[in-house]
Amino acid sequence: MQFDLEVRNVVKKFGDFKAVKGVSFQVEQGKFFSILGPSGCGKTTLLRMIAGFIEPTEGEIYIRGNLVNGIPPNKRPVNLVFQNLALFPMMNVEENIAFGLKRRKVPNSEIKKRVKDILERVGLPGFEKKSINQLSGGQKQRIAIARCLVLEPSVLLLDEPLGALDLKLREQMKVELKKLQTEVGTTFVYITHDQSEALVMSDYVAVMNAGRFEQVDTPQNLYHHPQTSFVASFVGDNNSWDADLLSQEDNFAFVKTNEGFEFKVKILNKLSKKDCEFFVRPEAFIIKPDKKLEGLNRVNVRVKTILFDGANSRLLTVIENSGKEIIVALPQNKQFDYIRPGDVIEVGWFPDNCVAFEKRDD
Ligand code: ATP
Repeated sequence: MQFDLEVRNVVKKFGDFKAVKGVSFQVEQGKFFSILGPSGCGKTTLLRMIAGFIEPTEGEIYIRGNLVNGIPPNKRPVNLVFQNLALFPMMNVEENIAFGLKRRKVPNSEIKKRVKDILERVGLPGFEKKSINQLSGGQKQRIAIARCLVLEPSVLLLDEPLGALDLKLREQMKVELKKLQTEVGTTFVYITHDQSEALVMSDYVAVMNAGRFEQVDTPQNLYHHPQTSFVASFVGDNNSWDADLLSQEDNFAFVKTNEGFEFKVKILNKLSKKDCEFFVRPEAFIIKPDKKLEGLNRVNVRVKTILFDGANSRLLTVIENSGKEIIVALPQNKQFDYIRPGDVIEVGWFPDNCVAFEKRDD
């Protein structure tokens, strides 16, 4: 299969420092692919290598099967939407969108038509003569994307384009951007440190940490089947526990937490050291589990407070006789709405719903 983008064993060194430590991935035509990771993990460096602003120290980058190493940015079939959008404030919408087409010497009549078409596709028909200062944050966003899409790139690169927007608009734009990408069908490569953006919009997400990809997967798999402790802690809310390994079988281990509780947990591979950490999602807890339910890990927790965010409620609890805090999601059926701060309740979870990894050194 030919991919719109293929990155093979790419390394970037700045002096002695390796910002990108051997990254490989492919993106199929028309997919929304995100690179998610904390600040400083190497996302921007990777994106800039794809765009052609910097060259890899090692490795190859292919766009639609063609090697692009050494080709300058303006000769690559990619465009980059910057975080600050980089619109020209002195030009109107039409002039902004037409800018790249003019540089490519596209005839004026053709430019008019293409600007009109792209404005329709991004949901802003008739906006040609508006000045940039008249636009809302969300509209500027769409114009910045339109300005890139009008050049018909094989791949559109987006560098945290929602970063500068306020929270409400970001929430809205997440949905808009995904809708837009689906409609135009262009391959998007999007970088962000915001896991909710990556999960909502992407077909595939690469979780990046310290210059490497930890896992490339669908949002669902990243959430439900993290392959590393970094992914488990970075993607979605998770209760993490430090523990010592007591014994292990093929798929399960017995561990003792720092607070002295013994639990059965899932493992993906044999653990090679005693120090481990395991993770339980807030929604994995069964509240007041039936005494007859077998095989559950169980603890008594005291409810400290109830965290309500409109759609969901969560209990912030502390395990009795320990300082260990855990967050427990309440089911939406209001079955447990009678629970109040100060109540002591039993919660349980199946070993299958929590996964343990060797403790990270960092
Ligand atoms: P952020 O989200 O904060 O932009 P990032 O994941 O995009 O972070 P990069 O900007 O790619 O991270 O930086 C990765 C690492 O490489 C950082 O430690 C950074 O300091 C370093 N770095 C980036 N550019 C250079 C450069 N030109 N010279 C030296 N070091 C650099």
